[in-house]
Amino acid sequence: MHEMKRYPTDDEAKKLICEIGRRMYQKNFVAANDGNISCKVDDDIIWATPTGVSKGFMSEDILVKLRLDGTVLSQGPLKPSSEIKMHLRVYNENPEVGGVCHAHPPVSTSFAIAGMSLDKAIYPEALVNLGTVPCVHYETPGSQGIPDSIAPYCRDYNALLLANHGALSWGRDVMEAWYRLESVEHYAMVIMYTGNIIGKANVLSCDQVGELMEIRKRMGYTSGGGMPACTARPTNTVDVVASNAPVNPAPETPRVLKTYGQSEAASSCGCTGSAGASEAELRAITQAVLERLKNL
Ligand SMILES: [Zn+2]
Repeated sequence: MHEMKRYPTDDEAKKLICEIGRRMYQKNFVAANDGNISCKVDDDIIWATPTGVSKGFMSEDILVKLRLDGTVLSQGPLKPSSEIKMHLRVYNENPEVGGVCHAHPPVSTSFAIAGMSLDKAIYPEALVNLGTVPCVHYETPGSQGIPDSIAPYCRDYNALLLANHGALSWGRDVMEAWYRLESVEHYAMVIMYTGNIIGKANVLSCDQVGELMEIRKRMGYTSGGGMPACTARPTNTVDVVASNAPVNPAPETPRVLKTYGQSEAASSCGCTGSAGASEAELRAITQAVLERLKNL
């Protein structure tokens, strides 16, 4: 028997949206009036953030209530955001979705600007909560192009990067959508640190990724989330007690005792003599002295 889906009440939904807005702002996921949040309260109805307001300082009376076809049912002093089209499309493409979050978190937005997806098998929580995060092609923010660009991914993934724009996530409820947005930024940060600062990452093996996908299924996640590239053999099975060996040890160079050649010695002390002379030279000098002595 399929359990009846329980949606939050209007009041609960509005409280959740304002709370997530505060967290979004405090975590530096948005600047100025960026970002938007929506929460489903019935099969065909959502509450959403309006346009032109900082997500850190919202009150419940400014939120907007809409049908999934975009009809406004109730609004305060502000209109719905132009980005609400993107939220409506996620709900329309995937009826399991109960909440959607969008922001411009700095690290994931940088990956989106670089046109890079988040798909490294390096971090179990990211793989369980998100799977992979594709980067969809650029469309003007607020345009109809954005909902069209995300539509193919709404059933099979849990979050997306929007090229040169930001990040979008959804979940069975709005809190799950928010946690996924946090996970996207965290995942992007870990990929940045390992790939671009530490410069090394042990990629999970395909068996290790397979186990995580099982956990994912047990947690009731129905969307696949995509499969990241994995390695045939694990490289993370040995304890590392000390990893402070020099990264690039200097090559062993034999100690060389500095000696002077004959000409150097002569020019430096202005004298003649045997200092630094070779064995053959010494023999020649001895021979010459002996010859002289013979002739005396
Ligand atoms: Zn945006």
